[in-house]
Amino acid sequence: MSQNEQMNEEDYLKRHLQDLEEGKKPTQSQNFINSDIPGPSENTSNVDNSRTSDLQYFNFDVRELPCGQFYPAGTLFMVRPAQVKEIQAYSMVDDTNFYDIVEKMNDMLQSCVRIKYADGKVASYLDIKDQDRLFLVFLIRELTFQQGNGLSVSVRCSCGEENVIELKRENFVYFDIDEKLVKFYNKNTGSYHFKTINGKSFELTPPNIGLQKAFSEYIIKENNDKRSPNLAFLKIIPFMLSGRSHITYDGIKAKLIDFEDMDQTSFQFLNAAVGKMTFGIKELKKACSCGEEVHTDMQFPNGASGIFVVHDAFEAYIKE
Ligand SMILES: [Zn+2]
Repeated sequence: MSQNEQMNEEDYLKRHLQDLEEGKKPTQSQNFINSDIPGPSENTSNVDNSRTSDLQYFNFDVRELPCGQFYPAGTLFMVRPAQVKEIQAYSMVDDTNFYDIVEKMNDMLQSCVRIKYADGKVASYLDIKDQDRLFLVFLIRELTFQQGNGLSVSVRCSCGEENVIELKRENFVYFDIDEKLVKFYNKNTGSYHFKTINGKSFELTPPNIGLQKAFSEYIIKENNDKRSPNLAFLKIIPFMLSGRSHITYDGIKAKLIDFEDMDQTSFQFLNAAVGKMTFGIKELKKACSCGEEVHTDMQFPNGASGIFVVHDAFEAYIKE
């Protein structure tokens, strides 16, 4: 086997990024209209040749993510704008099919997001927490449509004023982290460690996209084979796989056997604990001119496709 064949995708990416770091100084930050978005840090650089793999990534502190505390300390996430071909692929999303929406968003993250750990190791979108997906999709959107192209919802304040709330980071409100969880958080593992009165220990952390994909495939296979999946199992087990970004079909089957053998106390505890672990974007907010803050649920105006498909493109781009 040649040395090239022994390098996995991650090694290639890491080497490539190291090359970039030694390259040119960033210039693209000057194009940023939205000052909310930090420009490239010294770890990224602009490249002007046309290879798609050289597209510029912008570095962000992982703590900005809704699930930021569940990544190892010092993790960065690197995001680049979507290219036309990626928007073309996304534009075919079926707005009525939840599975397809998740898949198309995953494809977008696969193209536009990398994770860089403190030791320099670069990982793919599979390490991204499932509940950070939406935040990152909207961040890619902000980077892609820097000239505006706002996506917004209209909310009436109690004072009567109609407020237009744009779907962008500064207007997002996250779910609060349940205060009862806080003291069980372990900074080193980025997870919660619990001991229960029946002498059991459990480690829980929000699952990443790699696990979400593995469980989605498992559900599809069970449905195709006319088996009804155990929904309690599917709700809880992905949270119990800290440190992993993949599990095989047989691995899930083995976990299911253990799960169905579980004692009552453990199940009740885990069910309640996972029930407290809702993160991500909860709602949108904006300060009304009257001083009140208006809130509305997180939503997709014009459907999930509308995140990257310009709604009134015909009217906007036709030359009269
Ligand atoms: Zn008002």
